[in-house]
Amino acid sequence: MEDIDALIELMACPVCHGDLEIQKDKKNLKCIKCKRNYAIKEGIPIMLPKDL
Ligand SMILES: [Zn+2]
Repeated sequence: MEDIDALIELMACPVCHGDLEIQKDKKNLKCIKCKRNYAIKEGIPIMLPKDL
């Protein structure tokens, strides 16, 4: 499995371009700026904001 933490560091929130923080269960990402949550499925972050 890929190192998801390294991947997250390269990514930014698609809405506000804020930094992302991985949750402890490694199944969700949270934007520290706008507080949106993104799911991680099979090691791939799903960067589709639900409200766009
Ligand atoms: Zn954001």
